[in-house]
Amino acid sequence: MSRVVIVGGGGAGDAAAFALRKRGFDGEIVILSADTDRPYDRPYLSKEFLRGEVDLPKVFLHEEADYIKERIDLRLESAVTGGSLQERTVTAKGGEVEFDFLVLGLGGTPRRPHGLPSADNLLTLRSLGDSQALRKSLGSSTRLLVIGAGFIGAEVAASARKLGKDVIAVEALGVPLQRALGTEVGEIYAEIHRSHGVDLRTGAMVEEWHVQGGRIVGVTLSDGTREEADLVLIGAGIEPNLDLPRQLGLPIEGGGVLVDQGLKAADNVYAGGDIAVHSHPILGRQVRVEHWEVAKGHGRGVAASIADGETPYTKLPYFWSDQYDVSLEYRGQASGDDTAAWRGDREALTFSVFYLRGGVVEGVLSMNDSKTNELGGKLIESRRKVNPSDLENLAFDIGEFVGSPSAG
Ligand SMILES: Cc1cc2nc3c(=O)[nH]c(=O)nc-3n(C[C@H](O)[C@H](O)[C@H](O)COP(=O)(O)OP(=O)(O)OC[C@H]3O[C@@H](n4cnc5c(N)ncnc54)[C@H](O)[C@@H]3O)c2cc1C
Repeated sequence: MSRVVIVGGGGAGDAAAFALRKRGFDGEIVILSADTDRPYDRPYLSKEFLRGEVDLPKVFLHEEADYIKERIDLRLESAVTGGSLQERTVTAKGGEVEFDFLVLGLGGTPRRPHGLPSADNLLTLRSLGDSQALRKSLGSSTRLLVIGAGFIGAEVAASARKLGKDVIAVEALGVPLQRALGTEVGEIYAEIHRSHGVDLRTGAMVEEWHVQGGRIVGVTLSDGTREEADLVLIGAGIEPNLDLPRQLGLPIEGGGVLVDQGLKAADNVYAGGDIAVHSHPILGRQVRVEHWEVAKGHGRGVAASIADGETPYTKLPYFWSDQYDVSLEYRGQASGDDTAAWRGDREALTFSVFYLRGGVVEGVLSMNDSKTNELGGKLIESRRKVNPSDLENLAFDIGEFVGSPSAG
């Protein structure tokens, strides 16, 4: 009987296991997870779970009984430390585990910038345990200092404001979310956070940490101001977990494990989620995306390739972020050099931005504008050339355009 060993019990790993069963795979499935908890919905951790609006059982992706029913052998606290592709084994707690197919969904580890002091009230956020610790600390703190206004920092700042905490957010770049969303949309987010009472300091860095009795009590910023805080969250992004793939001799390129269209990294070895650099069949280039739906989709894609033979994974990258009452959705993947076409009402925070390269839409970002985002996805998939000025014109029917046969 064939055995699939999945390393990592996160979005990609968990989805791969259940999708394999759905596709009729009847062999053994083992998940080796370093985590202490069974797989959970990570996006809740900076939002509803952190704010106490959703509690534990709802955070888990499946009931314990589901793993038994589907004959998925979930082994927690089982970090894989090495292995051999030739011998088809990986080494975890308790010894070597043999595989016929290996799936890696290892996620990433929060970055800790140089020079951080060691202090009880300095936290990062990746795991359920991290979120529980942050939630508890937030309960007894009054002023949160967030370092880094990327998605995690921005979402935690928004959650803390909702909980009535004072929040100061320090971002080295000119606007929040700049790397992911660009300057113009970042400016909109800066305004949103400030209007909700976040003391947002952009273009600023921490010059000096003030620590008393093992706890941070404040910082001096690069603009010379001194700020008090009784809790600090570092939101400096992640480093994809590549030690194991490197040790196994898998191809590493573009910051991750290089996989083909069907998510294969080597014979009988697949990778998905945050660590995967995927040759995307529709976008026609390699993409690495650190987002939830992509990880789950990759898991399902890997299952298709294992159960049914090499299957190109064609779904477009997609992510969302909820901050206050603002819902962001993004399909595809744009770069800073693309032409932006804005459609909708910026002031009312109901709009979409299309990013075009050579007249073809590569990405679409929508704020409180889900329907347009979906149509934007179809536009990306069509690979049809379109005029930016048409996209900006609300009278131009995108649905009709993508539904109609290509004019060539
Ligand atoms: C707080 C938070 C909020 C987020 N919110 C959003 C959101 O709103 N929208 C969105 O699109 N994305 C969001 N994301 C990103 C999304 O959660 C990730 O992109 C996704 O979880 C990646 O899935 P993955 O399977 O690649 O990795 P993970 O889900 O991180 O899973 C990796 C697993 O591998 C395990 N592991 C690592 N190394 C080993 C090893 N050597 N041996 C065994 N196990 C190992 C880890 O313990 C973990 O269980 C959020 C992330 C966080 C942290």
